[in-house]
Amino acid sequence: MNLTRKYLPFHEDIMAKPTGPVDVSQTLMNILNTTGKFYGVRGSFGINDPRIGGHTTCHTLKFGKRLIIFDTGSGMIDIGNELMKQYLTPGTTIRDVDMFLNRYMTAKSRIEDLGNAMVDSGLLNLEEELYVDIMYSHVHMDHLMGLAAFKPIFSPKTHINFFGGMHDGMTIEEVSQRNVFVHPIFPVKHEWLASKRTYTTFKPEDEFTLDCDIGGKIAVKILPMNHPNQSYGYRFEWAGNVVAVTLDHEHDHEYDRNIVELWDGASIVVTEAQYDQEMYKTRKGFGHITARAAARHAQTAQPKLIYTTHHDPDADFALVEAIARTIQVRSGVETRYAMQNMTF
Ligand SMILES: [Zn+2]
Ligand SMILES: [Zn+2]
Repeated sequence: MNLTRKYLPFHEDIMAKPTGPVDVSQTLMNILNTTGKFYGVRGSFGINDPRIGGHTTCHTLKFGKRLIIFDTGSGMIDIGNELMKQYLTPGTTIRDVDMFLNRYMTAKSRIEDLGNAMVDSGLLNLEEELYVDIMYSHVHMDHLMGLAAFKPIFSPKTHINFFGGMHDGMTIEEVSQRNVFVHPIFPVKHEWLASKRTYTTFKPEDEFTLDCDIGGKIAVKILPMNHPNQSYGYRFEWAGNVVAVTLDHEHDHEYDRNIVELWDGASIVVTEAQYDQEMYKTRKGFGHITARAAARHAQTAQPKLIYTTHHDPDADFALVEAIARTIQVRSGVETRYAMQNMTF
């Protein structure tokens, strides 16, 4: 990568480039054998918005059969239900699971025994095991609130690898123990969860690899981003292609060198771009980037395609669309806005 490439300072306007479509294949992710889906596209708080979607931030990335979930906003409810369907006994529905849970709770059964009771219920196809990675940018409430609504976490047939950094001295496992599955926040305690879980705590500038069933290793690079209580960006490199995921981060001065490094030449960038210039006037220090600043980073890093997500709860359709258009016009990089249930 080349950080000496020209960029423009923060307050300087960039002349608009023509808005013609950039030549990026609609099936780029298919070529990469990688797919993704947005289950929650709102930042900060969930809202009721049937057009773009109201769930808080949560999306998947799939490399071969390896399923990675990014952050556990309220969109986790839908991911959990989709995954549960895969390992229910034929003829069983999610509603049957809900009714079982309801009967179990109203019978005042011991919550500690819930995992075994699920196995005994006959609802689960005991041949099917579910494997999933859950990766965290950070653990602010909008990125965490859906974890307890993720039904597979209560099943002994589920294996979850958690990945995350340190946040104010706490690991992801400690956050789960002390802030999610703990009384009086939630009736099921962390030690009662029936799923099998591992927790990996990475360092701020860590690099590691993951196995992929269709060949090769997925190289993962982590870099810290500018956000209250710390957030981390990810860069995945696999088979010569790159997917970058940068959720909550705020620009500082001209640009954030780490963001440019994560985005550099990426095939796809999934990023927040929460504010326009007007909103940012009253939200400096909240930890989110403007469309103009995102465009400056894109102009320098030159990714091939950007998806904006983590839309502000106050942003209506017109603003979400305008933010993506601003990035595209100013950087020349094709930019689309994420909508709930959209695949990519
Ligand atoms: Zn957030
Ligand atoms: Zn945050």
